[in-house]
Amino acid sequence: MGQPFLCWLSLGFKRSLTKTLFLKVTSVQQLLDFDRDAMIEFAQGLGEKPFRATQLFRWIHQRGLQDFEQMSDLAKSLREKLSTAAFVQAMPLISEHTSKDGVIKWLFDVGQGNAIETVYIPESDRATLCISSQAGCAVGCTFCSTGYQGFSRNLTTAEIISQLWFAEHRLRQQKAPGAQDHRVITNVVMMGMGEPLQNYSNLVPALKIMLDDHAYGLSRRRTTVSTSGVVPMIERLGLEAPVALALSLHAPNDALRNELVPLNRKYPIAQVLEACKGYLRYAPRDFVTLEYCLLDGVNDQEVHVNALIDLLRPSKGANYPCKINLIPFNPFKESGLKRSSLAQIKRFSDTLLDAGLVCTVRKTRGEDIDAACGQLAGDIQDRTSISSRRAQGKVIPISPDFS
Ligand code: SF4
Repeated sequence: MGQPFLCWLSLGFKRSLTKTLFLKVTSVQQLLDFDRDAMIEFAQGLGEKPFRATQLFRWIHQRGLQDFEQMSDLAKSLREKLSTAAFVQAMPLISEHTSKDGVIKWLFDVGQGNAIETVYIPESDRATLCISSQAGCAVGCTFCSTGYQGFSRNLTTAEIISQLWFAEHRLRQQKAPGAQDHRVITNVVMMGMGEPLQNYSNLVPALKIMLDDHAYGLSRRRTTVSTSGVVPMIERLGLEAPVALALSLHAPNDALRNELVPLNRKYPIAQVLEACKGYLRYAPRDFVTLEYCLLDGVNDQEVHVNALIDLLRPSKGANYPCKINLIPFNPFKESGLKRSSLAQIKRFSDTLLDAGLVCTVRKTRGEDIDAACGQLAGDIQDRTSISSRRAQGKVIPISPDFS
């Protein structure tokens, strides 16, 4: 957290003097890193009362401001302190693509040649933002383009929440200029790049900011964490930030899931389903969503659907309410996998419904911009060629001013 005042201090000073100055000047805090408790602590460190932290929090998250001078109800002395002790900054935007059906995909630069994606999916009754939690992913699912990128690093809390901060205020400005209180994003899914529960300590403060009425005020039912099954963190999430939970299942047995979701070798299906059952004690919904990406000839055959039904029988693994979300695969060439045919998807879905299970088929959205949420497939080029894009002047140095 925070950015050290390194450059100007080290220029032209002897080493010992640099060290002295460096110790005196505390790091400048990125305020998007702070949930409200941390903001209160920060404000107290500046000699301010807790309510000042709440005011600041509201200016940043509810109004999208980053210029302290415009935060008109903060005392001048506080604004001055903030101008030297803190900053609010989203990640540089590399590109913005809007699909024919209104889906928007943003690509953000997170440094050292890495980029992450954020996808906005508008529907008639809601607007969902799909957020990334890591640059790359260590889980390495075989059907996921992020898995093919390898793992670079965890995103900070600021980098996670700034995706919502940026999207919410950019869209507000576009959709209803001047209507600063008109909320645009109603749902958040942590289904972008990365395994959120492998970045737990940065995820939880970001979730708290999303849920905070002084920030985005999202409902716990409309905020979903999707996991490939990091068992020890599932219960902790329930205790610390109990939002809706989705499990990336994708296979009805361990042998196949070991191949598709390698984390299964550490936490096999029975353990993961048991952890999800425990999560229902805290969850805002009385069911767990099971994501199942349909891959032609791999996990979409009769034998698979029957095994899935068997697994979800009350006497078997998931002896609690589940909703199965079937996801048509979004192909990308490195995977060598194909999307199941529409007829096959329908057969699979009908068989589940006939067995009395709750099942939906996710609509494919934003296909013309490779924006399928949950996989963010394709466009690997986009993530690996930032330096060449920079050289071509294609990185957009955005510093959004939403005031
Ligand atoms: S599906 Fe999720 S957990 Fe699996 S590799 Fe992709 S980002 Fe990681």
